[in-house]
Amino acid sequence: MISIEEFRQYGHQFVDWMADYYTTIDEYPVKSRSKPGDIFHQVPDTAPEVGESIPEIFEDFKQIIMPGITHWQNPKWFAYFQANSSYPSVLAEMLTATLGTQCMAWETSPAAAELEEKMMIWLRDMTGLPPDFTGVIQDTASTATLCALLSAREKVSTFRINRSGFRGDEHFRIYCSTETHSSIDKAVRIAGFGDINLVKVEVDDALALNPEALEEAISDDLQKGKHPLCVIATIGTTGTMAIDPLKKIARIAQVHDLWLHVDAAYAGSALVLPEFRWMIEGIEQADSYVFNPHKWMFTNFDLSAYYVKDKDILIRTFAIMPEYLKTGMDEKVNNYRNWGIQMGRRFRALKLWFVLRNFGTNEIRRRIRNHIQMVQELTEIIRLEPDYEIMMPSPLSMVCFRFHPQSLEDEEALNNLNRNLLEAVNASGNTFMTHTKIKGAFVIRLVAGQTYVEGRHLQEVWEFIKATAEKIGRDG
Ligand SMILES: *Cc1c(COP(=O)(O)O)cnc(C)c1O
Repeated sequence: MISIEEFRQYGHQFVDWMADYYTTIDEYPVKSRSKPGDIFHQVPDTAPEVGESIPEIFEDFKQIIMPGITHWQNPKWFAYFQANSSYPSVLAEMLTATLGTQCMAWETSPAAAELEEKMMIWLRDMTGLPPDFTGVIQDTASTATLCALLSAREKVSTFRINRSGFRGDEHFRIYCSTETHSSIDKAVRIAGFGDINLVKVEVDDALALNPEALEEAISDDLQKGKHPLCVIATIGTTGTMAIDPLKKIARIAQVHDLWLHVDAAYAGSALVLPEFRWMIEGIEQADSYVFNPHKWMFTNFDLSAYYVKDKDILIRTFAIMPEYLKTGMDEKVNNYRNWGIQMGRRFRALKLWFVLRNFGTNEIRRRIRNHIQMVQELTEIIRLEPDYEIMMPSPLSMVCFRFHPQSLEDEEALNNLNRNLLEAVNASGNTFMTHTKIKGAFVIRLVAGQTYVEGRHLQEVWEFIKATAEKIGRDG
């Protein structure tokens, strides 16, 4: 094991490597070209008996690991959603790793607990959430949604299910749209409701939840003696960035006394822009809300901001107080291990503090607004191309389109053509995009939200897509 002097020496070297990586990132293929097993077979089958030097390990990192890395921080990353990172965030992560503190209780690092509390207030106010919302950092939106479902379950059963489990006669029903993220399916399973009690409500032409269909599904269930428990509204679906009509859903939730959870994992960051606050009209009615600064607010994974209206329900759902965890301060402070699933917690608030202070809210707004504007401009360019089709416009930083040569009308052929186009574009290593299906049509989905993306990256990629499509069209 290295000495403290070597730690200092290699630390400097690593930071140099990190800075070089960022400045040469476009020399790597965005999407790794590894094939299954490539990395596994290069790593020995057992751990070494005798320690190896950092230079040796680092060399293998470069030779074995780097070729198997997909470069999420490349500005020409337009796949899935972004997993943002930024220089201040990475610097803070180095400090977090160095402190290696566990943030389960106030006493185990008062600064972590109090900075988390303050950062959640900053984010709440920056994004126009109601002042009576209380926030806590969760690792991911998946975890936050699970917390919401468990809280809903415990609230309505007056904490009986925590004590004695399901009786079997609860007949709880959960509602979301057919376009909702898979983390909701997973949370429904883990919370013990069962897949069959997740009701996927149909969507309108914009792929947003249809509130009339929700109302109908609830009435149907009531007639059958079921117990409508919770509805999940999505602000910015993963497939097409659809925005569920929150205000109407909130009214239905209120009438039927449902828990209302709002999943704004990606699009929640756009709420720093006042012109997008219409997306959360009705949010005062929500019981819980989640968005991911680790997607689109320049903060390294993982950091999900989870907000609740009534923190006592959250804490009563999760608090367990063994003797060895009791402290003299418990009445006066936030012990965040009681606000979620994990006991041990990383000091995540630190990177958010570095990001929010170093960027400043002006720069955060400027970048997010710029991402949106760039995609809106590209959307208009694509719209004017006779051989391309906008399949779903979005007011935010996503565009769903397809290559549609004027002579080609067969839907199956169009799907194959676009699948081949996307595969060729991604195989080039120039960029990375993913797809979705809209009413059976294979659609290329482009999201711009990488921390360092500029208009020129988007232009280059668009020209490249066109050239690749032309080539595919020519070669058949
Ligand atoms: C990405 C995403 C999630 C899951 O986020 P994690 O933090 O990775 O769990 C949930 N909902 C929506 C709408 C998403 O886009």
